[in-house]
Amino acid sequence: MHAKARSVLVVGSGLAGLTCAAELAASGRDALVVSPGRAGRDGATHRVHALAPWILLTAPWVRGDSPTRFFDDLKRRGLGLERSGLAEVLADSSHAAALRLIEDLDLEPMDAEPVTLAGDELPRGLRCLPRNRHIMLAPALTHCAAVGVRVRERTLVFGLLIGEDRVVGAVVVDRDGGGVSSIEAEAVVLACGGGGAVFPVTTSPRWCRGTGLALASAAAVLLHRPGLAQALPVTATPPLFFPSSAALVHGRIEIGSRALPADRDVEATTVAIAGAARAGTPALFEPIAETASILPARVRASAAFKQSGRIPLTVALHHCIGGVAIDTWGRTSLPGLYACGEAAGGVQGQRRTMGTGLLEAAVFGRRAAQAIIRDQKEYGPRSERNRRAAVPGLPFEPAAIEHRLDELLGPLVVLRPPDEVESAVRELRAWPLGDFEPSLADEASAFAGIRRQAALAMLGAFREDRSADAPGAPPAGSGEGRWTTSA
Ligand SMILES: Cc1cc2nc3c(=O)[nH]c(=O)nc-3n(C[C@H](O)[C@H](O)[C@H](O)COP(=O)(O)OP(=O)(O)OC[C@H]3O[C@@H](n4cnc5c(N)ncnc54)[C@H](O)[C@@H]3O)c2cc1C
Repeated sequence: MHAKARSVLVVGSGLAGLTCAAELAASGRDALVVSPGRAGRDGATHRVHALAPWILLTAPWVRGDSPTRFFDDLKRRGLGLERSGLAEVLADSSHAAALRLIEDLDLEPMDAEPVTLAGDELPRGLRCLPRNRHIMLAPALTHCAAVGVRVRERTLVFGLLIGEDRVVGAVVVDRDGGGVSSIEAEAVVLACGGGGAVFPVTTSPRWCRGTGLALASAAAVLLHRPGLAQALPVTATPPLFFPSSAALVHGRIEIGSRALPADRDVEATTVAIAGAARAGTPALFEPIAETASILPARVRASAAFKQSGRIPLTVALHHCIGGVAIDTWGRTSLPGLYACGEAAGGVQGQRRTMGTGLLEAAVFGRRAAQAIIRDQKEYGPRSERNRRAAVPGLPFEPAAIEHRLDELLGPLVVLRPPDEVESAVRELRAWPLGDFEPSLADEASAFAGIRRQAALAMLGAFREDRSADAPGAPPAGSGEGRWTTSA
């Protein structure tokens, strides 16, 4: 299958991908979105409403606040690990972008005023729900259809097609047995989400296993601190629900027979639960009454909660802060390749501010489209010479490496002893790869190849992306601890 030559290929149908594609199509560009599952339902965006009690949009809302103050706070939390210029864009755009998102996604604010989030001096967190509890991205899908965005579902991208010196398309596998093919395009946008599902316990959907990191590293495209990621405490049995940080710090948590101190923050809570999980000690959460009511019915109906009013907790990889390195317009280091949303790295640094993931996706999705529209004027004719597919190594036995990755990475969600990380990296590097052509890959080997390559990018960077170069920071991956609300 070959898409039209002047089309833009958008990888992923989360908020970043749909925003980018709609902007392109509205400007008369031919935008094709590919997604491995059902469009609009297979990314982290779809999960926000399912695994958290509300949708949080953080921006300067009140008198006395401003983009400059918001930027200062992002910068202070970033501890220098953010990428130059990106936080400014987020701070400058967040207020207007949040208002637009409320309208575009038909969201309904829960409170008359924003709430003050932990670590903030001003109320910045607007809590919303989809009006009529509709599927989060349903309005965006409708809009995309109206402006002519083409969508191809059940299609997994697992490589980039590179011409002389620029990307000219992608390599995909059809999940309905149609085999491997290439999709040619004038530009490719990595809107494929983060790498939470590189780890076995994650709030991200299974598809979000670091495709951006894997494809970029296979094509020698610059990454920005791929080891920078945020973990959070969640209910230990599915659904892996995040009860809000306020609930976690105000409720009682017992590890073994010891209760965690009352004045703890989310970071300390995350680290303590991760330590307990590594030691095989249960961590039990007794929510205050107000929190119990926001827990999903399945959690409230669980035997543990019914018997004792307590819920086992674990830690989950939640959000990738690092990712593919971009400029302020979503351009990567490879001409023709763009990245936005959680696939892109460095809008924030060591500590991520809660309630910003959707705004990042919308703001940088739109900017990537605008950059493509401008850049396309400069594109010369695409050369057929020296074409190659940049594809992650494809494991010979995909099921075996998936299993081994679960074993190796399960204990490393938060605490990452250097010797364990190094031994995992050695093992993954030496893992036997099939010496078959990408065109002979199947879904399982492509899927496992993405995960192995992304795991190597993340693990290999844990050492340099942690607190050593950011004095005063908590251990890498200990959770940025700002997914909390005082409400
Ligand atoms: C439980 C939870 C609660 C959250 N709460 C909030 C909140 O309250 N406020 C907030 O601002 N943010 C929140 N976030 C973060 C926010 O949801 C994400 O930052 C944001 O949705 C990322 O959007 P995205 O479009 O970049 O990625 P995603 O929505 O993850 O979309 C990625 C897309 O790429 C596709 N894809 C992946 N790999 C491939 C491949 N190889 N080939 C083709 N397609 C591929 C996926 O299937 C998906 O369609 C939350 C996240 C979670 C998980």
